[in-house]
Amino acid sequence: MRKKDGKDVMKEFEVRKNRQLVAIVLTVFIVLLCGVLYKRPVLYASFPKEGLFGPQIAAIVAFASFSALNWRCPSCGKYLGGDVHRQICKKCGVRLQ
Ligand SMILES: [Zn+2]
Repeated sequence: MRKKDGKDVMKEFEVRKNRQLVAIVLTVFIVLLCGVLYKRPVLYASFPKEGLFGPQIAAIVAFASFSALNWRCPSCGKYLGGDVHRQICKKCGVRLQ
C-alpha cells in the first residue's frame, strides 16, 4: 500500500469526521428520544420500562463500536480520542485538517 500524502489524509479525515458527527447526532437523538418517552406517562404506558433502556444501551454500544472502527488516524490507524476538532494526530503527527 502506498503511503498517503497530506491531501489524502485530510480528505479521509474529513470523511471520517462527518461519519463520526452523524453517529454522534444519531446516538444523542436515540438516547434523548428514549428519555423523553420514559418521562411521558401517556406514551410511557405503551412502553415497558425496561424496553426503553435496551435501545439506549444498544445505541451507545453501537456508537462505541462504530467509533472504535471509524475514529482513527487515516495515516497510522491510531484511535483519535474524544476531540472531534483534533488538528494533528498525536501518534504520528500527521496534519488532519
Ligand atoms: Zn496518526
